[in-house]
Amino acid sequence: MTVLATTGLTFAYGDVLALDGIDLDVPAGRIGLVGANGAGKTTLLKLMLGILDPQAGGVRVLEHDVGQDPLAVRSRVGYMPEAATLPPDQTAADFVGYSAELAGLPPKASRQRASDVLALVGLQEERFRPIGGFSTGMTQRTKLAQALVHDPDLVLLDEPTAGLDPEGRDEMLDLIERLGGFGIDVVVSSHVLGDIERTCDWVVMLDGGKVLRSGPLAGLEATGTVLLEVLDSPAVLVAALERRGAAVEHEGTRMQVRVEDGDPFTVVRDALAETGAGLRRLSSGTTTLEDVFLRAGDTL
Ligand code: ATP
Repeated sequence: MTVLATTGLTFAYGDVLALDGIDLDVPAGRIGLVGANGAGKTTLLKLMLGILDPQAGGVRVLEHDVGQDPLAVRSRVGYMPEAATLPPDQTAADFVGYSAELAGLPPKASRQRASDVLALVGLQEERFRPIGGFSTGMTQRTKLAQALVHDPDLVLLDEPTAGLDPEGRDEMLDLIERLGGFGIDVVVSSHVLGDIERTCDWVVMLDGGKVLRSGPLAGLEATGTVLLEVLDSPAVLVAALERRGAAVEHEGTRMQVRVEDGDPFTVVRDALAETGAGLRRLSSGTTTLEDVFLRAGDTL
C-alpha cells in the first residue's frame, strides 16, 4: 500500500514557491517529514488533505487521487494541525464528540467514541474540563484525539511535539509509536530530527521546497562511518580510500571515513593492507539522521 505518491507536485503562495515539483512514493508505516521552518512540510500536508490545490503535478493519498476524490481521502485521514485552534470554553469531551459528529457519526456513538479516544491519549480524567485551562501537552493530546475520532486509516500530525517539555514530548512520541499497533499509518512533521529517528520507519527530508531524500530510516542509519588515526602522514592512505569510493575528512593523522554503500570497515581494511599504513586507533563513527540531512543538503 502506498500512503503518499506525488508527481511534479508544485505549490506557490504568490511569489513564494513552497513546493518545487516534488516526486515521492512512500509506503505504509510511520513516515517522518523533516525540514527546517519554511521547508514546505505544512504545505505538503495541506495538499494531501485537498485544503490547497497544486499549481502543477498531482498527489495521491492511500491510493486516492486527492484532486479527483477529496472526500474519499478526508473520510480516511485524520489531521492534527500545528496551530492551536481549539475552543477554550468547550470541554475536551464536547469538542472531540462534536468533531465525531462532523465526521458523520450519530450523537450517542460520537460521545462514546470521543470518550474512547480521549482515554487512548491519556485524557480520561480531564475530559470534562474546559480546554482553556489545559497545559500545552493536554491541548496537543486533545488535538490528536480529534484527529483519531473518526477511526482513520492515516493521520497527518503537524509538529505534534511543538512547545512540549521533555516529558510531554516523550509521552507524545510514545503515543505516535502506539498508533501503528492500531493499524493506523502516520505522517508526522517535525523540525526535530531526534523525534523522527525515534518514531518513524521512513523519512522524507524537505529543504526549500525540494526533496533532499526519501527512504527507509534503517537504510539511512546504515550509512557507515569509521574513525581512524594513523601513525604517519595520511596522504597515501586517503588516496587509497578515495579510490575505493570513500569520502574522507582528515585533520593531521586523524580521519573520518564514510562509505555510502557497503561495509566501511572492509574498505578501510583493504586500503590499510594496500598502503601498509600504521594504525593507531580505529572505531565506529555514529551516523545520525542529522549527519544524513546535512550531507544531503550539501549535494543538492
Ligand atoms: P513551519 O514549520 O515553519 O510551518 P514548513 O516546513 O511547514 O515550516 P510551510 O509552512 O509549508 O513550511 O511554508 C513553506 C514556504 O511557504 C515558506 O517559505 C513559508 O514562508 C511560505 N508560506 C507558507 N504559508 C504561506 C502563506 N499563507 N502565504 C505566503 N507564504 C506562505
